[in-house]
Amino acid sequence: MKVVKFGGSSLASGQSVEQALNIILNDPERQVIVVSAPGKRNNADTKVTDLLIKYAEQVLKHEETDAIVKQIFARYQEIGYFFGLNDEKLQIIQNILLALPNQNYPDNNYLMAAFKAHGERLNARLIALILQHENIKSRFLDPVDAGLIVTGEPNDALVNPESYLNLDQIKIDPNEKIIFPGFFGITPSGNIATFSRGGSDITGAILARGFHANIYENFTDVNGIFAANPNIVMHPISIKKMTYREMRELSYAGFSVFHDEALIPAIQGQIPINVKNTQEPDNPGTMIVPEKNFSPDNTITGVTSQKHFSALYLHKYLLNKEAGFTLRILQILYKHNIPYEHMPSGIDDITIIFNNDFLNDQLIDQICNEIQATINPDQLEWIDDYAIIMVVGEGMKKTPGVSRQILDSLASQGITPRMINQGASQISIMIGTKKEKADKAVKIIYQDFFN
Ligand code: ASP
Repeated sequence: MKVVKFGGSSLASGQSVEQALNIILNDPERQVIVVSAPGKRNNADTKVTDLLIKYAEQVLKHEETDAIVKQIFARYQEIGYFFGLNDEKLQIIQNILLALPNQNYPDNNYLMAAFKAHGERLNARLIALILQHENIKSRFLDPVDAGLIVTGEPNDALVNPESYLNLDQIKIDPNEKIIFPGFFGITPSGNIATFSRGGSDITGAILARGFHANIYENFTDVNGIFAANPNIVMHPISIKKMTYREMRELSYAGFSVFHDEALIPAIQGQIPINVKNTQEPDNPGTMIVPEKNFSPDNTITGVTSQKHFSALYLHKYLLNKEAGFTLRILQILYKHNIPYEHMPSGIDDITIIFNNDFLNDQLIDQICNEIQATINPDQLEWIDDYAIIMVVGEGMKKTPGVSRQILDSLASQGITPRMINQGASQISIMIGTKKEKADKAVKIIYQDFFN
């Protein structure tokens, strides 16, 4: 049995839903279908999830909501009409939308989560209606009824392991299609909580593990995962096969085709993932597979960059002899609830690299002041134009001279790395550069290794 997930751009209009349904019907093994909310039909369009966020905001501000409800419902209507569903059949979708403000929510965050989740919840309902209209045996399965339990933040939830036991109890008839909404689950107290944005990928992986699928097919709008960002490198190759951990390293550093949190259930269940294009279903796309018995085609699999970092550089003589030096820094960060990304160090200095999403000017001043006062470094410098380049590949482990080749390519473009770090897994090399050099660095490394 296969679990198949369609992203929002693959379900944005009647025509794209038709393509998705053809893919499902082409293979009887494609039995569990996870759907996103309708996405953008063109660049100027708005995703239904974003319309729902606007709806929730208007409700919270006690503003008029008729127009936004109409706009959201029109997206489902357009798809329904394409398949010949009439207003009577679609009424349920409008009723659910209109009833959203009247439900009970523990607080505004839960309200927001519930509104957002309805993008997928209503789409799954609609697609089940369409399949039934076409006389195809299908069933809308709600996360509430399936026991997909989540905990944590209402808008950044985590799956609870109990969900797998619940999913294991569900019987699926060999010739029926299950339509399951992505992106959310239900908390132990019965409220809706969503995963982080793009989280329908996570639902797909949870179901693939829970239903013991032999593959998790993830349909999106590109031919798999490219070895570099096509906005930086012209026509990069599409990766044929890669390992889970290569994907994790690359998605950490900006490969956003597949949600990085979605890898974990797939790894736990050892389910291979196939990222494919809805427009070109015969293209093999990218396979993401376990490390065991994997033999890489190239030395490196992908190269990427992320520019949203800053770094704190500290210099102090004999730092290596001072017990508790890093501990005191970490205590200050912990007090302000600031996570750090990396901490490369030398005998007399240390750099702490941060994700800018967790910082603001006031916090930066505060931690710099406290670190200066507590550990009294000889030099403290805040670097705000920090980028990280990640070069990833299982093939690097067995190939001598990869770091030299990377450094030579960078040197040929006059790029001096600020930091180089090779993880213990030996499948990734991380290089810190100035922001403005990041794209150039990616381009030259790609050219050197792939051309
Ligand atoms: N619809 C949600 C979002 O836009 C989840 C998803 O598409 O995976 O983030």
